[in-house]
Amino acid sequence: MKKALRIGAWGWALSGLALAADFDLRITNARIVDGTGAAAFVGSVAVKDGRIVQVGAAEGTADEVIDAKGRVLAPGFIDVHTHSEDICTLPAAENFLRMGVTTIITGNCGNSRTDVAAFFEEIGKAGVSVNVATLIGHNSVRKQGMNGVSIRAPRADELAEMKRLVDQAMKEGAVGLSTGLIYVPGTFAKTDEIVALAHVAAEHDGIYVSHMRAETLKIFEALEEFTTILRETGIRGQVSHLKVTGPSAWGKSGEVLKRLDQARAEGLRITHDQYAYTASSTGLRQTIPDSAFEGTRDDYRARIADPAMKARIIAQMAENRARAGYKDYSHAVIAKFASDPSLNGKSIPEAAKIVRGSDSLEDQVELILDIETRSGASAVYHGMHEDDLTRFMKHPLTMVASDGGPRRLGEDMPHPRSYGNNARVLARYVREQKILTIEEAVRKMAALPAETFQMKDRGVIRLGGFADLVIFDPELVNDPSSFPDPHHYAEGFSHVIVNGGVVIRDGKLTDTRSGGPLRR
Ligand SMILES: [Zn+2]
Repeated sequence: MKKALRIGAWGWALSGLALAADFDLRITNARIVDGTGAAAFVGSVAVKDGRIVQVGAAEGTADEVIDAKGRVLAPGFIDVHTHSEDICTLPAAENFLRMGVTTIITGNCGNSRTDVAAFFEEIGKAGVSVNVATLIGHNSVRKQGMNGVSIRAPRADELAEMKRLVDQAMKEGAVGLSTGLIYVPGTFAKTDEIVALAHVAAEHDGIYVSHMRAETLKIFEALEEFTTILRETGIRGQVSHLKVTGPSAWGKSGEVLKRLDQARAEGLRITHDQYAYTASSTGLRQTIPDSAFEGTRDDYRARIADPAMKARIIAQMAENRARAGYKDYSHAVIAKFASDPSLNGKSIPEAAKIVRGSDSLEDQVELILDIETRSGASAVYHGMHEDDLTRFMKHPLTMVASDGGPRRLGEDMPHPRSYGNNARVLARYVREQKILTIEEAVRKMAALPAETFQMKDRGVIRLGGFADLVIFDPELVNDPSSFPDPHHYAEGFSHVIVNGGVVIRDGKLTDTRSGGPLRR
């Protein structure tokens, strides 16, 4: 659409002399929701060289003009909680783009790359569509620093190595330290170990991001540990995927928020994120006590083969079930079982019936233990209550984050959040239930995460900011992915722009890959 300069009576077009337009891109007639929570207004936005250079008025020429009449223009969404270590194998990350996400943070729940510089270099070379930041994960650091999976505390030299790894990752651009304290080997770490590492991240003004030690009734003890770490190190803290899970914990969300507000009143700096579903997703092994997992999978197999040890493990499983308020494992659905994919999508009782001919509790337990002796499996757990979810959502310091990752259409039976989380908030909780205003929802997806994770010039539509932008129809935005049928892209987003590059145009993925590594 560049204008050609014409000279002379013959009208020769001098193709080499194209006049540059004033802007690369202009979006006109949009209902601008700027990300700060301020009231929406109608106007236009112009982009040049990857930055926002005009907001409100509409003067000058542009190479591309998008008329966004009737649609919302918002900052690209920042998904602070993802597991995207494999982003270079799926660089288009279309499931994220299609729900308006232009920036992701990976390395959550304690699991990350420890060679951050190399990771960022790979991302730069892969040509990714989104901006990618990372945390440094405690579990990964612990495995490397202690040479395997160990139930004991690290020796002084091992802790020194772990601190060195965190320091190096922070220098290489990680945004903070993450923990996953229900996972092996993080679950074996005592609070002082985490304090030592959080000190290092704090020296770089990083953030401490935690999948806390419990999300059941024991969440109050977990919050004690979380706030102790913040108090002792002065670090800022983020509670990952805030939730209360298991029927016995339902209704406790108000008390959890009260504790968090009390900690803030004391001076601690705390924020949280949440996904908009009442089911979680993680390894099926989380139903088995951690002590079964020290060492390798062979060590685990040896314990299961020992009748006395196996009996102890089964007794502990019964105790955990009772504490959470479950009678059996019907709340757990297999998401991905490499050894037998035909079980993907089946609940544990359904799978036990198929594999063992009976869905008795004993057979369910045997099936779970057996799956773990083979490849292990991931699962979806239907363990939360809608009232807790919406109570957490309404808190002004809760941001929207998927806990998902890049997805291949049709592969396995993953949690639908990787496809639909942001769209679901806009459709179900803004348009249908009116739990949030659209301005507040976008703030939770844009300015709040940008501010919390210190992403300069992102998350707000303002002059000079990076041109990460999304255009969607607030009446049509939708999340068609469901638990039994999870592989559908979100609907309603016509344009997604990353650093000024149009990656989705008129609802279609383009060849532009204008994302890249985002170093702190
Ligand atoms: Zn987690």
